[in-house]
Amino acid sequence: MTVDDPRLHSIYDLVVHRNPGEDEFHQAVREVLDSLGPVIARHPEYADARVIERICEPERQIIFRVPWVDDSGRVEINRGFRVEFNSALGPYKGGLRFHPSVYLGIVKFLGFEQVFKNALTGMPIGGGKGGSDFDPKGRSDAEVMRFCQSFMTELYRHIGEYTDVPAGDIGVGGREIGYLFGQYKRITNRYESGVLTGKGIGWGGSAVRKEATGYGTAFFVQEMLRERGESLDGKKVVVSGSGNVAIYAVEKVHELGGTVVACSDSAGYVVDEAGVDVALLKEVKEVERARISEYAERRSGASYFAGGSIWDVPCDVALPCATENELDETAARTLVAQGCTVVAEGANMPTTPAGVATFVDAGVLFAPGKAANAGGVATSALEMQQNASRDSWTHDHAETRLAEIMAGIHARCAEAADDYGRPGDYVLGANVSGFIRVADAMLAMGVV
Ligand code: NDP
Repeated sequence: MTVDDPRLHSIYDLVVHRNPGEDEFHQAVREVLDSLGPVIARHPEYADARVIERICEPERQIIFRVPWVDDSGRVEINRGFRVEFNSALGPYKGGLRFHPSVYLGIVKFLGFEQVFKNALTGMPIGGGKGGSDFDPKGRSDAEVMRFCQSFMTELYRHIGEYTDVPAGDIGVGGREIGYLFGQYKRITNRYESGVLTGKGIGWGGSAVRKEATGYGTAFFVQEMLRERGESLDGKKVVVSGSGNVAIYAVEKVHELGGTVVACSDSAGYVVDEAGVDVALLKEVKEVERARISEYAERRSGASYFAGGSIWDVPCDVALPCATENELDETAARTLVAQGCTVVAEGANMPTTPAGVATFVDAGVLFAPGKAANAGGVATSALEMQQNASRDSWTHDHAETRLAEIMAGIHARCAEAADDYGRPGDYVLGANVSGFIRVADAMLAMGVV
């Protein structure tokens, strides 16, 4: 892929120059700039006001020390991040990731993506992201609690329901959000429900928040297939990962008539031709926090493959739901050769640029993460709405709202793609539609 327009090319060069070594951030910026040539041709006012350069520069970047004591009494030091990327549409909103690979470039790529994703939902939320290089894997609950308390002891001064509202991401689920909220409440002496989303249902959380990203991805696939007069009924689906997004993508695909025949973790993948048993998957991954190999040991007919590529498993629909750049050109070619016709990204930027090009060239329906996985943040915005009105919706109501929001995102992507002469190009549609909403708000607010 190339950034063809010379103005966009020089913006991209500047981003690379000003953010050295941040490969994932460069990749995310490039993917958006690749779509914007026709937009600035039609709307020179965006270029004149240097809106694109401003969008590529985070409003604020916070890096902090997170000291804590492990169970043996040893002092550990991690690094914490919060990148408050863009608040043109509302308070910064985006998750926290706890994973050893986290560094500034990962947080900036995720924050940048989040700006456009949040705009696409049509809701009043800006974009941000944060996290730490802390690895919760193998840590006791007490260690995770002490880490979260130390992390929040710095983060609390930067967030608030009208300022910045974090949520979960890789390595941050209900347990971590609970510890973080408890510490925020203790330090500030305020029960400010709207400061974090992904809370427990009994204390300010929203029904369907936990399920929302995975469910939303499945709803988005349903919308794409509907355009072709098809449905998920009878389709064979492969879902990578077995975390929060993957588990609920599997659950909803099954409810919509598809069969998920494989899922994975970072050590390997399982194939279960009879259809992944969601109850067992939840037991292994959510309750026991065990490895996916454990699933195959307990499920007759399932096989475990250590290492290797889950994308070697033949399917009609592929849902990468683990992490960035997990699906490369080789995997994309294999999927296409074996008959895969639909790919939707449950994870953020899981497909490499060459992988995306392979799908596009082959006519595969391809949904980028900023559209397909926006159901999580959209339901976080619904959680904020319930908190603000001291209300608590039923599961059915929250899920109906989620399905409507995903249909709206699909429609916005499709309309923008049609409008710019590229029908069916969801990458262009998502980038253009999200960009225009943010850019118009920035223009209206002057140079700030
Ligand atoms: P979880 O921590 O719940 O699960 C992550 C899953 O991905 C695990 O199965 C994990 O395996 C696997 N994984 C993580 N890192 C790697 C790696 N380097 N290589 C291979 N597998 C890996 O995270 P989520 O499900 O919340 O997030 C998954 C993706 O979805 C991320 O890209 C995230 O940014 C994105 N996302 C999440 C949202 C949410 O609401 N949670 C919202 C929108 C996007 P293992 O256990 O072995 O590490």
